[in-house]
Amino acid sequence: MNEPTRLRATPAASTDHGDDTRTAMSGATIRRAFLDHVFYTQGKLPGHASGNDLYQALAHTVRDRLVQRWISTAETYQSQPSRTVAYLSAEFLMGPHLGNNLVNLGIFDDARAAMASLDLDLDEILAQEVEPGLGNGGLGRLAACFMDSLASLEIPALGYGIRYEYGIFQQSIIDGMQVESTDTWLRNGNPWEIQRSEWAVQVRLGGHTEHYTDDRGHYRVRWVPAKTVHGVPFDSPILGYQVNTVNTLRLWRAEATEAFDFHTFNRGDYLGAVNKKVTSENLTKVLYPNDETQQGKELRLEQQYFFVACSLQDMLRLLSKQGLPVTSFHEKFAVQLNDTHPAIGIAELMRLLVDDHGVAWPEAWHVTRHAFAYTNHTLLPEALEQWPLELFGRILPRHLEIIYEINARFLDEVRIRFYGDESRLTRLSLINEHGQRNVRMANLACLGSHTINGVAELHSRLMREDVLKDVYEMWPDKFTNVTNGVTPRRWIALSNPRMTRLVTEAIGDGWIRDLDQIRALEPYADDAAFRERWYDVRRENKRDLAKLVRENTGVVIDPDSMFDVMVKRIHEYKRQHLAVLHIIALYHRIKSDPHADITPRTFLFGGKAAPGYHYAKLMIRFVTSVADVVNNDPQVRDRLKVVFLPNFNVTYGQRIYPAADLSEQISLAGKEASGTGNMKFAMNGAITIGTMDGANIELRDAIGADFFFPFGLNAAEVYALKAAGYRPATFYESNPELRAVIDLIQHGFFSKGDAAVFRPLFEGLLQHDPYMLLADFASYVHCQQDVSHAYGDRTRWQRMSILSSARSGRFSSDRAIREYADRIWRVEPVPVCLLHRASGQVQGAQQAGEGGFSERCGS
Ligand SMILES: *Cc1c(COP(=O)(O)O)cnc(C)c1O
Repeated sequence: MNEPTRLRATPAASTDHGDDTRTAMSGATIRRAFLDHVFYTQGKLPGHASGNDLYQALAHTVRDRLVQRWISTAETYQSQPSRTVAYLSAEFLMGPHLGNNLVNLGIFDDARAAMASLDLDLDEILAQEVEPGLGNGGLGRLAACFMDSLASLEIPALGYGIRYEYGIFQQSIIDGMQVESTDTWLRNGNPWEIQRSEWAVQVRLGGHTEHYTDDRGHYRVRWVPAKTVHGVPFDSPILGYQVNTVNTLRLWRAEATEAFDFHTFNRGDYLGAVNKKVTSENLTKVLYPNDETQQGKELRLEQQYFFVACSLQDMLRLLSKQGLPVTSFHEKFAVQLNDTHPAIGIAELMRLLVDDHGVAWPEAWHVTRHAFAYTNHTLLPEALEQWPLELFGRILPRHLEIIYEINARFLDEVRIRFYGDESRLTRLSLINEHGQRNVRMANLACLGSHTINGVAELHSRLMREDVLKDVYEMWPDKFTNVTNGVTPRRWIALSNPRMTRLVTEAIGDGWIRDLDQIRALEPYADDAAFRERWYDVRRENKRDLAKLVRENTGVVIDPDSMFDVMVKRIHEYKRQHLAVLHIIALYHRIKSDPHADITPRTFLFGGKAAPGYHYAKLMIRFVTSVADVVNNDPQVRDRLKVVFLPNFNVTYGQRIYPAADLSEQISLAGKEASGTGNMKFAMNGAITIGTMDGANIELRDAIGADFFFPFGLNAAEVYALKAAGYRPATFYESNPELRAVIDLIQHGFFSKGDAAVFRPLFEGLLQHDPYMLLADFASYVHCQQDVSHAYGDRTRWQRMSILSSARSGRFSSDRAIREYADRIWRVEPVPVCLLHRASGQVQGAQQAGEGGFSERCGS
């Protein structure tokens, strides 16, 4: 075969500083590049360009400005020995890329000016981007924030995941009920990804194993799969904030392998072959829309194994490219498991080392255990992944054998350590022997990892004392806590430009890189003029959100009312229905006494319910039904408004968090692992009403008890009440307001007289109430009264709001990533020097393209 023609850097080209000028950052260059992309990439005359053409042209313009840094980053990493983080996550909820890249490049204002010079509105162009919704909620969004922080801290990292063709479903509300539709996020193409077909890998599935002795007399195992699929990587650049570092998010797409279809073709069964192709490609077709539940679906296990197998092969390729042996895998890579979804990687790395590379079991186990670390994300037992043995063995026959072997060696260890403690053996075993036998992925993740972390102090403690107690007693030193964080680039600089300008004017812009610096805002809480400007910023944000709400729902809301906001996945443990009980209580007060002193509030809800989670869908219907009554009652509608904003996602979040006065974080204590929405609200100046759950506790400690509204049982009280025998009806019987509220629901007041609609809801509450709404109701309503009083005092509220932002520095994901880097991954920053495009030489500082940050790369 002929060598393909290669584009060669000529001596003439190497003295050409074309890349400096072509991808310079000035307004004039951006404008010219943009027009070029409208013409050459989109193939349109400027006058005929659609909204999408304009978006694509600007996205390509920005991407061009990332490429030199991206290549320089790859070259830098390739030529140095430091450890690389491989962040394995089945979900990356990235949100729109364009605006974030403009912020991190530092050219947001130049881009706005360049567009304005063409009579275009940058915000309208940004609004064209269809967000990649490749995650369900908090867990996927955490992975996205971590990718931003890793790049901003110049840490070598790869994000590995799945390129779902359909992301999280689109939600609309019809007749007050959730209706799902497919998320065709790729319909206009994705300008941020580059397909890397040359690094495609093969993944085996199903079949059986054969045990034999090789010609050197070694015992070996051969896995004969039932099918093989191709994994093709799609890379997206992840730019850090004002650094040269551009890390890679590498998402895998499943494709049919030609070799496999060949036989079918030869038999003349063309359609059969096509059908097989379609079947293979189904693997990465759709994101499972579950949140905090585990379904045990075959395709889901295949997805998990597929992306982990692709990613580990990719890491081995990188290792060998550096000339390193497979047994140094753990020295080169720190592999983080974002929940148990990628935990099968532990068995897969063992298989690669032992079966494919002939490494002896003990050494392979040493490498594996020193490579992996595991982040636990849940305290709900129903969310802990288990796979039926039968299903697992059918899809991954070799991995089941490996898991048995790991388990046998492990249980020998336990037997000696905990002599005579048989029940401990059954609890720690990788195999759950109860009923239908299952593989316990959390136990596998713990066993195969050197470090196990929870995501907030309380969560980590409950993990040690409850969910993973036996594992903790086995290896106490493996356990640590890293409280979650969120990136201030997306969640303040991009989402809240008005606040960003005001804060930067007061204290400089260092806080965007180092959020601890925002503490310098504290003294401004006592500055009346600053407080007024803060108020104006927040009022403008609320006006913008009111406009969005009107456009999307038709409901008119008053920016001077308190925006009381609860946006997050819909789940019983999060207790959206507790917020609704409070609304009904206020409604009842106004109806019983038209002159009742009620602070005008707008209650904003948003969030998706898993399509099969009927109770959560009923909770949405509960919100919309109460909204219908409240918003149409002439006596009430000027004081209370209730809105359910459909299809809550990152794009909406960027408009909502900066416009909230009150942040609702009201999960039953001991149920929310951390929460990150709570952090986004607080950074943007919202005041929190919350239970002592997840990171709320640390938020309250950071912001100050006087500036946080706590209510409800704490985790210990929840345990105690459960142990004592919780009887929700007692609360119903003894609290007249609660009784009135429940009775209204029970009599069908919010369902046009049809008591059946919400029967599962109120009967559930009166009989079992597993999330203890009735126990917390009185405390919640009382606390809300305090909130209303505080809101009535504008000076006090603005002071609290400023202090909330000023004291939120700890909740930057930069702090979280530093903790992972120091305590878990043991990785160091590797600053990147810009390479000259043609020659591949390091570019001198004076030659660096405008906006290049090469002066920051010392060694
Ligand atoms: C932050 C975020 C979440 C997580 O919110 P919690 O309040 O922590 O549950 C979920 N979805 C989206 C779109 C988010 O941005």
